[in-house]
Amino acid sequence: MKFCSDCGAAVSLTIPQGDNRPRYVCSSCNVIHYQNPRIVAGCLPVYGDKVLLCKRAIEPRYGYWTLPAGFMENGESCEEGAARETEEEACAEVTNLRLYTMFSLPHIDQVHLFYLADMPNEHYAPGSESLLTQLLLEEEIPWDELAFPTIGRTLRYFFADRKEGHFAMRSEALLRPVRAN
Ligand code: ZN
Repeated sequence: MKFCSDCGAAVSLTIPQGDNRPRYVCSSCNVIHYQNPRIVAGCLPVYGDKVLLCKRAIEPRYGYWTLPAGFMENGESCEEGAARETEEEACAEVTNLRLYTMFSLPHIDQVHLFYLADMPNEHYAPGSESLLTQLLLEEEIPWDELAFPTIGRTLRYFFADRKEGHFAMRSEALLRPVRAN
């Protein structure tokens, strides 16, 4: 950040009084521009013995497969964000959302949340951010073409839990870039 979004003056990186880390502070209006992690919310939509994946039509990771997910909007709940992204990217309806995986990604200042969700019908289609959407069996998952590490981990947990017949919520931190699959 170089300029204040409130008044347009230059900002400088300084530790405000009473704080303990550098912040962007406006040289003119003294507003402190805090920067905090962004939340990505998404779904693992399940229909029968298949899960719904999307092939990305946007960068980053154009052409790679993902679960429907995206940055939350102001004014919505995590569940609403996850369901909205599923509608936008896969034109699919989801119900019965259960928080399933939560990943802290401090190296990119993001938190990723994925909800297990039921598809009440088999209707889906690529939204504007997807080249293709597909319901896939476990053996059809394109493990080498997954877009992000949190996608691969969520899918692996799901198929392992399904074999056990019990789905346990996971919370973990990925402290550095890791393989996508
Ligand atoms: Zn300012």
